[in-house]
Amino acid sequence: MKHTLADAQQRDAQDELKGYRDQFHIPVQENGKPFVYLCGNSLGLQPKSAETYIKQELEDWKKFGVEGHFHAKNPWLQYHEFLTDKMAKIVGAKPIEVVVMNTLSVNLHLLMASFYRPTKERYKILIESDAFPSDRYAVNSQLKFHGFDDGLLELKPREGEVLLRQEDIEATISKDGDSIALILMGCPNYYTGQVVDMKKIAALGHAQGCVVGFDLAHGAGNLKLELHDSGVDFAAWCTYKYLNSGPGSVGGCFIHERHAKAFDLPRFAGWWGHNKETRFGMRDDFDPLPGAEGWQLSNPPILSLAAIRASLDIFDTVGMKALHEKSKKLTGYLETLLQDLSNEVNIISPENPNERGCQLSLQITKGGGRMIFDEITKNGVIADWREPDVIRIAPVPLYNTYEDIFHFVEILKNALKK
Ligand SMILES: *Cc1c(COP(=O)(O)O)cnc(C)c1O
Repeated sequence: MKHTLADAQQRDAQDELKGYRDQFHIPVQENGKPFVYLCGNSLGLQPKSAETYIKQELEDWKKFGVEGHFHAKNPWLQYHEFLTDKMAKIVGAKPIEVVVMNTLSVNLHLLMASFYRPTKERYKILIESDAFPSDRYAVNSQLKFHGFDDGLLELKPREGEVLLRQEDIEATISKDGDSIALILMGCPNYYTGQVVDMKKIAALGHAQGCVVGFDLAHGAGNLKLELHDSGVDFAAWCTYKYLNSGPGSVGGCFIHERHAKAFDLPRFAGWWGHNKETRFGMRDDFDPLPGAEGWQLSNPPILSLAAIRASLDIFDTVGMKALHEKSKKLTGYLETLLQDLSNEVNIISPENPNERGCQLSLQITKGGGRMIFDEITKNGVIADWREPDVIRIAPVPLYNTYEDIFHFVEILKNALKK
C-alpha cells in the first residue's frame, strides 16, 4: 500500500467518526492553515459547544444571582450530578462510584487521606519509577506526613529497557506485598504511553493486603476502561487532557462500590460531602453521603463543570467503544508511517495495541531530539517534548485525522533530513 496524501484522505472519507472534528475549534497558524495538533494528551481542544454551555450559566447568574442554585436552567445545587452518569460510562464505573470534583493532585491527596493507612510494618507506596512528577511529590509528601522517610518503592524497567514488564510488576508485588500499604500507578504511563493490566495488579495487590489506586490522567477518554470490574479501590483523573474540558478544569474520582458505605474510613470532610437533605441545616454533625460523592468538600466551580458537560455530551454520543476502535486504527496508521524512519525514530511505546492508548512516544535516535522537536514545531506541528529525548504524539480519535498523521510524518521526515 502506498502511503500518499490521497490515501490518507481516502481513510478520512471512510471514517465513521469524521464528523466530530467539526465540533471542535482547531487552532490555526498565522498562514491560515490549521495546526497539526497532536497534543490532546496535554490539553484537549475546545468543543464548540463549550461556549454555549458556559454562557447559559453566565446568563443564569446574571438573571438569578444566588437563586440560580435552585432556579437556573441547570440548577447549580446539583450541577455536578449532571455529569456523573456520563463520566461513569466513560470509565466503566457505576454512578455511585464516580464524582467530578477538585483537581487531580488534590484528589490524589484526599484519596490517600482515606486509602493510605500505613502501619509500622506496612507503610510503603509502590509507584512507577517514571511516574508523573506531581504524583511522586504527592506520594512522597504523604509518606513524610505520616512520618516515613524511606517508604517509596519504585518499579523500574530492566537494564536497557524502557517499559515495565507485567511479570516484573507482579513479582515485586508478590515479593514486597506485605510491606506495601498502597500501589499507585499511572495508566497509561504519561511518558511511555504504556498500559498495565489494572485488574491483575488489583487482584495481586489485594491478595497481599495492599490498597490499589490508579492515576488515569492519560486513561480517561483514551482507554476503554472497566473500572468497576477491575476491582481497583480508587482512581483519579483530570478532564482537560482527553476529556477536552479546558485548562485547569475540575477532575474526576472513582471510589469502588465496596467502599461506598465505608463511613469508618477517615476522610477529610466538607459540606458538599454531607447528606443533601440536611446540608443547609448547618447544625448537624458530618453525615457523609454514600459513594464517591461523600468525598466532596466544596461547592464546585459551575463554569468549569459546564465545559466538562459540553464535552461529556459529545463522548456520550460517540461512545468509548467506537472511539477506541478508531483510536487503534489511527495510532496504528501513525506507527506504520513511522516504519520508514526506523533508523532515526525509536517508538518506545508498546507495540501491542492492547498495551497502549493513542499516544506514541518517539525517541529521536539521530542528532538532537530537541532540535527536531523545534523544527517540527516551526512547521505547524503541536506536540509535546519531554526531557531528555522524547516527543509525545497523541492522535486523538475525536478530532485528529489520517491527514494530520500524514502531514506530521512528512514534516518530521523533512526535519530529520535537515
Ligand atoms: C497531567 C497529570 C497530572 C496533573 O495534575 P493536576 O493536579 O491536574 O495539575 C498529574 N498526574 C498525571 C499522571 C498527569 O498526567
